[in-house]
Amino acid sequence: MATATSAAQLCRNYIGGRWVESGSTKIAERRNPANSDEIVAAVPLSTREEMKEAIAAAKAAFPAWRETPAPARGKILFKAVRIMEEKKDELARLLTREEGKTLKDSLGEVQRAINITEFMAGEARRLNGETLSSELPKNFAYTIRQPLGVVGAITPWNFPVAIPVWKIAPALVCGNTVVFKPATITPLTAIKIVEIFEAAGLPPGVLNLVMGSGRETGDELVQSPAVHGLSFTGSNEIGTALYACGAQRLKKVQCEMGGKNPVVILADADMGLALESTLAGAFASTGQRCTATSRVVIEESVADAFVEKLVERAKKYSVGNGLEPGVEMGPAVDESQMNTDLKYMEIGKKEAELLCGGERLSGPKYDKGWFVSPTVFDHVRPESALSQDEIFGPVLSIVRVKGFDEALHVANSVRFGLSSAIYSTDSNKIFEFVDKIETGMTHVNSPTVGGEAHVPFGGAKDSSVGPREVGHAAIEFYTDTKIVYVDYTGRKRESSIY
Ligand code: NAP
Repeated sequence: MATATSAAQLCRNYIGGRWVESGSTKIAERRNPANSDEIVAAVPLSTREEMKEAIAAAKAAFPAWRETPAPARGKILFKAVRIMEEKKDELARLLTREEGKTLKDSLGEVQRAINITEFMAGEARRLNGETLSSELPKNFAYTIRQPLGVVGAITPWNFPVAIPVWKIAPALVCGNTVVFKPATITPLTAIKIVEIFEAAGLPPGVLNLVMGSGRETGDELVQSPAVHGLSFTGSNEIGTALYACGAQRLKKVQCEMGGKNPVVILADADMGLALESTLAGAFASTGQRCTATSRVVIEESVADAFVEKLVERAKKYSVGNGLEPGVEMGPAVDESQMNTDLKYMEIGKKEAELLCGGERLSGPKYDKGWFVSPTVFDHVRPESALSQDEIFGPVLSIVRVKGFDEALHVANSVRFGLSSAIYSTDSNKIFEFVDKIETGMTHVNSPTVGGEAHVPFGGAKDSSVGPREVGHAAIEFYTDTKIVYVDYTGRKRESSIY
């Protein structure tokens, strides 16, 4: 197998089963966010023509892949699981070097990708439709699941292993062929994923990878009439435009986008539990999770005691290179994200009360990376920018409320609706919250983050559009349902179905 990168880490595309160098002269350098002296990859910004070649390769491979029995497709995924397990450590280290999250978080992400691939491999034996009784004698109706054709997977940088895998694995099992456009700043993990599927035995053209800017190669995937399904995860700005464009072309589209996830803490909560979960939700992965906890909505009567302990712990948070043992939080993914974090820290200093952090970290350990401090603001107003905007960094806002009704109102007073959590021991309030909170996912006495391989994933309101991802919901997205009527009377019908 030819490898995708040279010693200089010039990334290649994977088109029609071959690793090919892009003809583009535009190259983007990717640096280690913990040490910007280290160039981890040179990423070609491929052309529209190269994306067209990848789409054509996927289209050519589709008929044979569609004919391959689903359990045989599943066997390739089971092999990919074994390879991912063998390469788990290597993949996790690469992820930390490229994206910056701690090795512990990277290992967790790779394990999630393994679990998802394993679940989807099993689903290959359960690609079932349903049988339905007919209104007519000697008739029956049934449904079958059929692949969409060529599908595009456009992914963000913050989960560059798990998110591509949770799109690619179900798409393949359902018999689609795939063109994968990863985030430009996380190319190496994308290459590793494709190498693993290649080594597992995917036929040429079934999975293709094109590096390049979203505006050019991503847009080509959205515009192409040969692409029938599009699965996008990323920002609201891009997702909204992409959804409109895909819908205009009558593609099946799903977009998972931003969040502004609240944790509601009631006076009767287990405060120790709420504290540890809030810290993990806010600062793990440097707050760069769509499900990160960015707002604490807490009852005034217990707020002072909670906030004091929270700040004490946040100040002791160990920030550094994610590859080093004991580090709890890595750097921002790049300079641009760091500047966004710093911008909101400055806004917060005007809008609210800064309790800790609020700055770029300096010193020998930090000077070459994009490190910011874990930041907590108190007395944040629900309508302020800190409360409303997705920052995507380690910035936590405390909003104090008088009671449960106000907490619910504040939690829902944002345009996003991805995830949420409640800490309480009052089952009446917990169930009321679960019913009324306007998020696609909610957690009771556990952090806003996380998800399992067989459980659907997705948001409400502006956070998502289109069907859910992950679990069986992904099978729904990556297949069309064909409805079949069979009449076995052998003569002209005496009644008809309208
Ligand atoms: P982004 O800037 O929207 O980019 C996402 C992907 O879209 C990248 O591959 C990007 O390519 C591509 N893209 C950019 N412009 C495009 C265009 N015009 N047409 C087609 N594709 C285009 O998002 P990001 O900064 O990578 O990720 C962070 C965001 O993702 C946050 O808002 C976060 O909340 C969200 N997110 C949501 C979930 C969820 O499940 N709800 C999960 C993770 C992340 P380039 O890299 O080349 O720009």
